[in-house]
Parts: sequence; C-alpha cells; structure tokens
Amino acid sequence: MSGNAVRLEAISEIVNQEPVESNVPFTESSTAEIFGENVFSLTVMQKRLPKDVYKSLKTTIEKGAKLDPTTANAVAAEMKSWALEHGATHYAHVFYPLTGLTAEKHDSFYTPDGKGGTLAEFEGGTLVQGEPDGSSFPNGGIRETFEARGYTIWDVTSPAYIMENPNGTTLCIPTAFVSWTGEALDKKTPVLRSMQALNIQAQRVLKFFGTAGAFVSSTAGAEQEYFLVDKNFFYARPDLLNAGRTLFGAAPPKGQEFDDHYFGAIPERVLACMFEAERECFKLGIPVKTRHNEVAPGQYEIAPVFEFSNVATDHQQLIMVTLKRVAEKYGMICLMHEKPFAGVNGSGKHLNFSMGSADAGNLFDPGDTPSENAQFLVFCAAMIRAVYHWAPLLRTVVASASNDHRLGANEAPPAILSVFLGDELTEVIEAIATGAPLKSRKSVMHVGADVLPEIPRDSGDRNRTSPMAFTGNRFEFRAVGSNQSIAGPLVAMNSIMADSLEFCASKLEAADTSTPEKLGKAVEALVKEIYTECKNVVFNGDGYSDEWHAEAAKRGLPNLKTTADALPVLKTKEVTELFEKYEVLSARETESRYEVYAEQYIMSINVESNLMLKMAKTIIFPAAIRYQSELATSLANLKEVGISADTDTLSYVTELIATMQSAIKVLAEAKENAPEDPEESCNYCRDTIIPAMNSLREVADKIEGEVADDLWPLPTYQEMLFVR
Ligand code: ADP
Ligand code: MG
Repeated sequence: MSGNAVRLEAISEIVNQEPVESNVPFTESSTAEIFGENVFSLTVMQKRLPKDVYKSLKTTIEKGAKLDPTTANAVAAEMKSWALEHGATHYAHVFYPLTGLTAEKHDSFYTPDGKGGTLAEFEGGTLVQGEPDGSSFPNGGIRETFEARGYTIWDVTSPAYIMENPNGTTLCIPTAFVSWTGEALDKKTPVLRSMQALNIQAQRVLKFFGTAGAFVSSTAGAEQEYFLVDKNFFYARPDLLNAGRTLFGAAPPKGQEFDDHYFGAIPERVLACMFEAERECFKLGIPVKTRHNEVAPGQYEIAPVFEFSNVATDHQQLIMVTLKRVAEKYGMICLMHEKPFAGVNGSGKHLNFSMGSADAGNLFDPGDTPSENAQFLVFCAAMIRAVYHWAPLLRTVVASASNDHRLGANEAPPAILSVFLGDELTEVIEAIATGAPLKSRKSVMHVGADVLPEIPRDSGDRNRTSPMAFTGNRFEFRAVGSNQSIAGPLVAMNSIMADSLEFCASKLEAADTSTPEKLGKAVEALVKEIYTECKNVVFNGDGYSDEWHAEAAKRGLPNLKTTADALPVLKTKEVTELFEKYEVLSARETESRYEVYAEQYIMSINVESNLMLKMAKTIIFPAAIRYQSELATSLANLKEVGISADTDTLSYVTELIATMQSAIKVLAEAKENAPEDPEESCNYCRDTIIPAMNSLREVADKIEGEVADDLWPLPTYQEMLFVR
C-alpha cells in the first residue's frame, strides 16, 4: 500500500459523494410555522397555564422574584404534558460548566408504577432542581470530591425546549449549576447575576432622564465563524481529531490571497447543511438571520438577531451544538477552533453588545431628541470609561490557548483593548470635553439642548481592526474566540458597565440637576471628566499596524499578549473586588475561575505537545526516511551504472530529518521539566513548550515540502481547504 492511500481514498470518497438529497421544503411560510415550535415559550405558557400560575411565573421571570412551590408544580405538570405531546420520553437539565461546553443529564419521565406498568412522572421539585453527579467538571477546588454534590437549578428566564433526535425527543430544561454551598460552578449563574447588577446601576442613571422603571437588560448578538472540512480528511488527521486544529501542515500554493471565497457563492453541500442547521435553530426559537462565506477558504459565518444576554448565551451554545450535529449528517465536521489552519484566517465570534429597556429603548442608540442624546452620551462615556479601566479584564475573558493564535495575528484585533468611536462621535465627544465648536455648526454643542449631528448607524466603512467598536447603535467586541462561550465576555461587560454607571450615577446625584439646563450641564461635566481621564483608550486608526502597537505602549495601554499573561488578572484585587461588590462572583468563585482556566490552558498545550511528538515520530519521521531511502537507493543505482548525480536533495532531506529529530528531543525534554504551580506552569508553556512546538512544526512543514507526494500520509492544506 502506498504512503498516501488514506489521502487518495478520502479524496475519492468526496469526489464520488452522492448529491445532497432535498430535505424538507424550505419556504418563508414554513419558517414562520416552525419558528419556536419546540419551545415552551411565554406564549405557550400563557395559553396553557392557569392565569394566576402564569402571572406568578412571569413576575419571577421579570423581577427575579422567588418561585413558589405551588407555581413550580403547576408549571411542571403542564410542561410535562406539552413535552409528552411532542413525543418526549426523557427530560434533561442542561447546564454550562466552566469547560465552556454544554452538559446535560437525561432522565426518563417514566417510573414503574409498582403494578407492572409505568407512570409518567415529573413534579415541580424535579423541574426546579436536579442533582447530576457532575463531580468531574472543573470547579477550581470549590468542590472536593467527598462533597461532590452539585445542583442544577431551573433558570426560569430561559425557556425549556424539545431536542429532537431521529429516535426520540428530550425535554431540555436550562439550568444553573451550583455547589451545595450555593457557589456558581457554571457560566450561566454569573451572567444572570451581572444582569441584575447592571440593571440596578442603570436605573440610577435613567431616573435623571425620566426613563427608569422597566428592567434594563444587556442584549447580545454573536456572529459565529466556523470551518467545515470533509470528515474523511478530519478522521485522517489525528491533530484535527484530538486538538481541533492542525499541528502540522505546509501552506498551500494557493491560500486566501485572491479573496475569492469571501462572500462568494456558498458550495451546494455547505448550503444544504446551513439550511438544515438553520431550520433546527428556528424550531428552537433561535432567530438566526445571516449566513455567508468568510475570508478563509472553507470558512463560514452564521449570526442570529440579538436577544437578551442570558437567552443569547444559551442560544449561542445551542447554535454551536446544532452546527456540529448537522454538519456530520452532510459528511462534514464543523471546526469551531480559533485557528484550525496556520496561515489562513482564524475564526472569531464578534459579540455585538448593547443594553436597553422597554422604557428607555436602546441605550447606545443616539436618538432624535436632546434628552435622548444626553442619555446616550452618558452611556457611551460609561462604556469608554469601562474599557479604559477594565481592559485587562476584557483581555482575560477572551484568553485561551486557541484564541492566542488569533489575537494580534493581523486578522483579528490585537490584544490591546481600545475603543473605536468613529470620526463623527469622537468629534462630538471631544467638542463637549473641550468646548470647541463642531465642524458642522458654528456654535458650541450643548447637551440637553442640541440634537446630535447625524451619527451614521452601521456605516459601510467600519473599522474592522478594533477590538471594541461602536457600530451605530451597539458596541462590537471582536476579540471573542469562535470556540468560546459568550458568557464570560458578557459577565465582564455587564459588570464593568455597572461599575461605570455607578460612577456616573454618583456624579449626577451629587450635581444640581433641578432643571433640564442644569442636567445638561451636569452631563457635559461628566462626559468631559470621563473623556479627559480615559481618552487614551479611544483609537480610530488601524489596529493591525505596528505604529499602533508603538503608540499604544506610549499611551500606557496594557498589551497582554498571551493567555499566560492575561489569566493572572483574575487574581488581582481590583477584579476580585469588582465582582464581589456587584455580587457577580464571590472572591472564592473568582479564584476558582483562575484555577480552572489556567488548568485548561496547561492541559490543552499538554495535549497538543503530546500529539505533536506522536505525529512527528510515527507519521512524519517514517515518511521522511522512506523518501530519504528512496533518494539514496536511486543515487546508489546511478553510481553503479557510472552516472554521477548531484546529492543536494538527499543532503537537504537528511539535514531536515536530523533537525526534526533534535526538535523532537528538545520538546520531549521540555515537557519533562514542567513546573507544578499553575501560574509558573502557564508561563513555562508560553516561554518553553510553545516555542519548542513551533520549532518542531517549522521543520516538519519543510519536510512536507520535500517528501514525494505519494509517500505523504497526512491530508494536505490544499486538500482540506479546497476539495469539497
Ligand atoms: P456585521 O457582520 O456587519 O457586523 P451582522 O449582521 O453579521 O453584521 O451581525 C450584526 C449582529 O449585531 C447581529 O447579531 C445583530 O442582531 C446584532 N445587533 C444589532 N443590534 C444590536 C443590539 N442593540 N444589541 C446587541 N446586538 C445587536
Ligand atoms: Mg458579520
């Protein structure tokens, strides 16, 4: 068998694949029909629940009031009948452990009735609280195994839904996952707490503008980027299978330089897969809206319409799960890793973020009246202040081994957190801060008297290089990684905005705001104070440029380049106190997060380096020496018949093999000397292991460029990215 048999077989499978069979017809009307059909939504509850039960539940959802057992029982009973009507046989408490994945524990509705039959049972208590074992989920020392109990508690703010499978359906109940002492072991609990904190501080500010009252919630819309590769290639690459990215692979002759994939026609099989994934999302009430090709070949994007942060977080996880599941039905694997292929763009998850309420509207929307604008300016200034003061925290919540490959790699924003406001808004804020007249008018602008000059909403030439960009009526946090839960970033945004709004509220409360004019003056003073302090964080230029790195250093903006640099921020007094003050995370909970994330970083580098060693030794080295021996044999044969041929290629290959062998040795030895302490170990990964991995890859990729194609065992970049 030749060395490239696996590759040839994979290609032949793909080339000879059956055309995609049409699934269910997909039309506008059917979309409307199926949207939310598998969700136990407020509308369904209103229809099915007794009036008083519905009212009591709604109060719980909207005001965070405690759920009483009678209500819980009544809801559970109705939820059960609804689920059984949808063919459910099981129910599952779904939760979001700190791994960033989705976890669920399934139980059957049916219990023996003691008379040889079964009974469908589901009580309020079972709905509200579950006890998965889950002792193996990372908890950063909060739970010792002897007290391994962790509870799942129904999150009434996120609706239950039905998950379909060809062989049955399951009622899924979104839950929070907490320890028996009430500490959050999951990603969801702090999201809910931070939303409460944000609301409290926002109300204090809104009362000055007569818009307080309705709950102020943050809103989120995450644009998910991902790659699709054929499963034949995926399973032929141990690195893709085990690490979700290629640890080796020479750049293809043709990469993404022609931009011919970006927004191009979507390949048929991929489009079919997207249709089905979207349909599945619709059934779950997830409002997915846009889809298109991304920059890199084989890369795509899906984005839903924004929702309240807590719901958006759950839906974001469901989108990831759904994409992965559906892709496999079409013979493809959905790669969510931030950098599956070196040398082509990686994947991010742009997190669009805003906040608003029924009474106040979208608080990052400039609005049409002087009063709306005054309110807008306060919230905008609060955001500038938040990013300025909490840049290291924002960097930490997007830190992971995989996202490190992407940030700052000239395709994603750098690790320096700055805010893009656009020229128009910058001019307005600067004019207020300095008292200078605006270009568009002769006189100075006054808050509370003037309507803002037109701020272009969502204008076309948006700055794509900024990690935090104002995009007309929201901010877009672009540093989030494609594989990450948006929970962490949202917790940070909610908390730092709460902190900034608290600052603003205190200033306004201390000022004379007895008349609209005086309020306007107070807002001007506030905007001026914030801008004067924080303007260094505002940057409208090219975030990818070297000049910006130099300029940012001059401005004193932190640049935490890697996860090892960023994670210790979670251990700082400022961050611990921030989360404690707003009751988002206790000191112990914050500390546990550091421990879990550091461990994850170390573990993923460990898995990758193990894999590299194994692949280098058992796949690449054998291919190289086969080729070397072929060259040597041919030279010897030529010599025998009296022909002298040059030995350059053989010498070069021999040299590469020797270099690879020493690179293997260096990495293997480095791994043996890893320190125990988490922080030291993270630094060791950054300073020693990762550079050793890079050296090994570099020489292995050179070998790939030399070895005869029919001896090369791993699917190549060319094949994985272009053969569909
Ligand atoms: P682009 O690729 O140009 O950034 P997309 O349409 O792909 O735009 O994504 C924009 C995202 O921003 C969508 O998810 C959209 O729902 C979201 N968005 C719009 N308004 C808000 C808002 N007020 N709060 C949060 N997200 C928002
Ligand atoms: Mg987009």
